This record gives sequence, C-alpha cells and structure tokens, in this order.
Amino acid sequence: MTLKGHCLCGAVGFALGGPHNWVGHCHCDSCRRGAGAPIVTFIGHPDGEWRWTGKEPAVFESSPGNRRGFCATCGASVFYASDSTPGETHFHAALLDDPAAVQPTEIDHAHERLRWMPEHYPGCGKL
Ligand SMILES: [Zn+2]
Ligand SMILES: [Zn+2]
Repeated sequence: MTLKGHCLCGAVGFALGGPHNWVGHCHCDSCRRGAGAPIVTFIGHPDGEWRWTGKEPAVFESSPGNRRGFCATCGASVFYASDSTPGETHFHAALLDDPAAVQPTEIDHAHERLRWMPEHYPGCGKL
C-alpha cells in the first residue's frame, strides 16, 4: 500500500510505500516551533521506501545533525531526519491525503507536553 501526502500549496509531495517503522506524537519544543503547532505526529518511514512526487522541500538544520524539511513556497513542515536515527525519515502525518490512514501508537518527549494539551490520545497506548 502506498500512502501519499502533500504540503498546503501542493508543490511538495511524497509517497510512502510499504510498512512504516512507527507512527507517533512528539511534544518536543523543536517540533512545536518547526510546525507552529502544540504537538506533531510523525510517520517514521524507512529510507529507500519513499519518494518525492513534487518539488523537494527546502532543508533547515535545526540543531547539529537534525534536519527539518519544509515547503519553500507555503512554509509547511514536511519531514524531520536526524543523524541519531539513520535509515529513516519522519514525515508529518497531517500532510497525508488521508491522515486517518495511520494510527499513532507512541508518544515522544512527553515531559515537554504543554499543560493544556491532553496527556492521552485515542489508540495511543504507550507513554
Ligand atoms: Zn507548499
Ligand atoms: Zn520532536
């Protein structure tokens, strides 16, 4: 099964083939600032199993070894990749044509959760 996604303006697109490594929410400060959102949800997908279907995103190194991709036209956050997690790229699940096609099962950096964000999410058992 291939899942497709795109940014707000549609210039950047991607297609994910085969199974994901994981799907999870992240509460960390860097993800929040990068996306302008109180929580982000990533799909960890193996490199070599996905491709760009439109323009490639611009890349910002948010800290040494950590790269965040965004659409240079509309500014939408598209991916995160890190030297600390080689072999996989983390795509923003909210950009999928059908974001409900995946089920987050993990929560990262829970200790950075904003106090007005819920602590638990439907279908997401692990903390
Ligand atoms: Zn765009
Ligand atoms: Zn994060």
